[in-house]
Amino acid sequence: MQPWYATKAMIALYFLLAIAAIIALREYELSRIRLRNLLQMAELEAAKLKELDHLKSRFYANISHEFRTPLTLILGPIEKMEQEIRDPRTLESLSVAHRNARKLLMLINQLLDLSKLESGNYKLSVSNGDFISLLQGLVMSFASMAEQNKISLEFGYDPRLKTPGIADDFFFDADIIEKIVSNLLSNAFKFTPEKGRIKVKACLIGTQGNNQMVEIIFSDNGIGIPEANLPFIFDRFYQVDSSSKREFEGSGIGLAFVRELVNVHKGNIYAKSRLGIGTTFSVRLPVGKDHYLPGQILSQPNASETRGHIRSKLVFSTHAGRNYPTMSKTGLPLVLVVEDHAEVRHFISDCLSKHFRVKEAKNSSEGLRFANEMIPDLIVSDIMMPVMDGFELCKKLKLDVKTSHIPVILLTARAEDSEKLRGYEAGADDYLIKPFNPSELLTRSINLVENRHLMREKFSKSAIIKPGEITVTPRDRVFIEKIMDIMEKNMGNHQFSVNHLALETGMSQSQLHRKLKALINLTANHFIRSLRMHRAKELLEANAGNVAEIAYMVGYEDPGYFSRTYKSFFGILPSAIIKNQK
Ligand code: ADP
Repeated sequence: MQPWYATKAMIALYFLLAIAAIIALREYELSRIRLRNLLQMAELEAAKLKELDHLKSRFYANISHEFRTPLTLILGPIEKMEQEIRDPRTLESLSVAHRNARKLLMLINQLLDLSKLESGNYKLSVSNGDFISLLQGLVMSFASMAEQNKISLEFGYDPRLKTPGIADDFFFDADIIEKIVSNLLSNAFKFTPEKGRIKVKACLIGTQGNNQMVEIIFSDNGIGIPEANLPFIFDRFYQVDSSSKREFEGSGIGLAFVRELVNVHKGNIYAKSRLGIGTTFSVRLPVGKDHYLPGQILSQPNASETRGHIRSKLVFSTHAGRNYPTMSKTGLPLVLVVEDHAEVRHFISDCLSKHFRVKEAKNSSEGLRFANEMIPDLIVSDIMMPVMDGFELCKKLKLDVKTSHIPVILLTARAEDSEKLRGYEAGADDYLIKPFNPSELLTRSINLVENRHLMREKFSKSAIIKPGEITVTPRDRVFIEKIMDIMEKNMGNHQFSVNHLALETGMSQSQLHRKLKALINLTANHFIRSLRMHRAKELLEANAGNVAEIAYMVGYEDPGYFSRTYKSFFGILPSAIIKNQK
């Protein structure tokens, strides 16, 4: 008898099992081949897409380049014409062309940067600097826009961000920060109606060490974004309302650009929004330099200046490598800051406060009043102010003999050359465009005050006052000529005093005192005495009389007192001169 496993039925079963196994193996093999093919196809597709994307980026880059050259050739002649043409209507049209050509150039630069970012060719350069000052300066550069649109603009920061331990640890690329902030703020202004509110706040998040980040929150109470559209707003060319009837102009590049910039800077960005309530963008950036490659870290501060291809107006070191003398607070020169926007005013004061005593004025008329009362050493004024603008203020200051010698720096948000020209025509000594670089403001302020100081020093030491040489403005020249004339007429008048001189010049004694101090570094008393003494010297040397006679000619009743004054002035007795002459 056959064993059970060798029966015919069992053999048939073995046969069937073998066939099933062969079929299963074949099926497995086929599915693997199918999967492999699918994968290969997907890879091929991805490669094709990548190639397409690469081509697209190259196309953007090429076309942007092609656009840039003719645009530069449009901008150049416009700028030149703006300087030459005087007709206000033509200037107005030119200014429209100028503004729009610049806008186009900015857009093209953004496209170019975006394609660089996407292809990984954008070079990050971080350096150590004062992050909060940079941020504050950027936000404040929108203050005029806020005023024009009646929008309240606020800036705040976690005070820990200014403590030395944390502040010293900030490494960032100023160009990138500037682009991020200006794009997000431009959007906030575009989508927030009048009487709205825009806030920028910087916070410190995470624990000390690798995880610590700075979070910059941009919030507005504008039109908001519908929930369904929110996931797409960072896509290139995406706009919530892309209909041809849309209310807001734009290209849909801004946020895509911002996200790429934030990513290169090893950070991330989130958006929250509610339709009709408002929008908040949070940008988180790492603190410290561990996140960056050695080649990305610059040892010098001022990344934006070293890279050079972008506006170099914003830097963060307030000392810019110069050693300014630090004096006691009361010995510091006095600067008057005229700016109607409170936060910008405080910001400017902050920038200057280490090297100046600062007085603030809320508007031009207050500025004019303070300038007359205090005769400051420098005035920094905004241009855009209600009622009386900065040009008018500057003109008034330069026309009034009490204030004409005070150097004036005008600040403006507008970069047009015609504005600059207007500033200089109003008699401004310098001109800065917002967003200004705090160190540049400080350097220029110090330079102006130092120049005047050097001039004064020179003339307080020289024997003869030449009005044409000691003065920088025609008003001051006339003033000096006038007081010299008054003195000439009263040289022999022993009763003539500071009080009379002030009366005759139409100034108060303290105004006259400050004016003379500013122009020739002499108090009014010293000035009168100096003129009398120099005249006495001339008369003595010309043998015009004896000591008593000459004393009388220069307004001294008492020859003994005259001799003592002369000796302390020239170190020699008048009688000795007469003796020498003989
Ligand atoms: P655009 O040039 O159109 O402003 P962006 O990429 O900067 O392009 O923004 C994309 C879209 O996101 C905008 O068209 C707008 O609909 C929406 N958006 C951006 N910022 C805001 C904001 N602060 N409030 C409301 N909507 C916004």
